[in-house]
Amino acid sequence: MNEEIRKLRAEIDNIDKNIIDLLIFRKELSDKIISEKKCNNISVYDRQRELEIVEKLKGEFSQNINPQLIEGVFREILFYSKADNYRINTNNKLFEVLNSEPFIIAGPCTIESEEQLCNIANHLSKSGIKLLRGGAFKPRTSPFSFQGMEDEGLALMKKIADKYSMYTVSEFTDSRQLNELYDLVDVIQIGSRNMFSYGFLKQIGQRTAQDKKPVLLKRGFQSTVNEFLLSAQYIINEGNPNVILCLRGIRTFEQIDSDLRNTPDLATILELKEKTNLKIVFDPSHACGRSKYVVKTSIAALELGADGLIIETHNKPEEALSDGKQSIKPIELERIIDYINKYF
Ligand code: PEP
Ligand code: MN
Repeated sequence: MNEEIRKLRAEIDNIDKNIIDLLIFRKELSDKIISEKKCNNISVYDRQRELEIVEKLKGEFSQNINPQLIEGVFREILFYSKADNYRINTNNKLFEVLNSEPFIIAGPCTIESEEQLCNIANHLSKSGIKLLRGGAFKPRTSPFSFQGMEDEGLALMKKIADKYSMYTVSEFTDSRQLNELYDLVDVIQIGSRNMFSYGFLKQIGQRTAQDKKPVLLKRGFQSTVNEFLLSAQYIINEGNPNVILCLRGIRTFEQIDSDLRNTPDLATILELKEKTNLKIVFDPSHACGRSKYVVKTSIAALELGADGLIIETHNKPEEALSDGKQSIKPIELERIIDYINKYF
């Protein structure tokens, strides 16, 4: 090889080593900040600070280097600084999606038919969404309401998710489903009504202890924050730390005469950020119960530091078999996606 190239390559190798040394040093410093914050009960994640770091560098160096490159490189560096502070740090593709911040889980309240789910999944995957939700076992208030497509629905969802390279998120309501249908669901949802089913939480923790499959635990609509955290602990204690906390609104006096189905527990995101390192997802659909509020409360949740959103999305909300009033069309997600692309 040409001597000049060899010399230049040696210099580059040297620079790469220096970059790694600096990254290690940077991480040591940010670890110190994180432990200081934890001692003082300050939230670990500070989005404002992250935005400032990147904006400042872009301002100073935009003449010398492409600002998009600065953004991309620093997104990785900032993620690396806080990566240990998230429970979800396994290295498969699903965990990568859940670690990409923020992530969106979307899909219908209930799986209704192949045509319906295919139509929705097609739209969602075109928008880059990787996590498909859909209920097969619906804990309906009335036993006379549609209960879901059950086993057949989950098999359908898995088939469609595979077709669009998406992951499935669905609720189990009993241990039979957990054991027989385990492989059809990538992220196990536990519904608000089951947050207090301690026996079931333990079974889920035991069943997932081996593969550490993520469990999305919804807050009981009449639970306190500490009860919620303790329910998560039931699963963690059995050996699976990958619990995702989902805030989906709580029942308050508001429901006596307001239009809201629940009271969105948005500020609780801030509190949970201080109390736990678990991922926090906000569900604007059940929290508000009205599609017209979904986009704005989603953006508010992201502003407050939510790691992800779970949003009921239907191709024909007016014809949905459940929760149509709170479902938005896939196209309406674009406003949230635009926001994420702009600010994250
Ligand atoms: C759902 O996600 O469709 C659902 C039933 O939610 P929750 O358990 O929060 O009521
Ligand atoms: Mn629903």
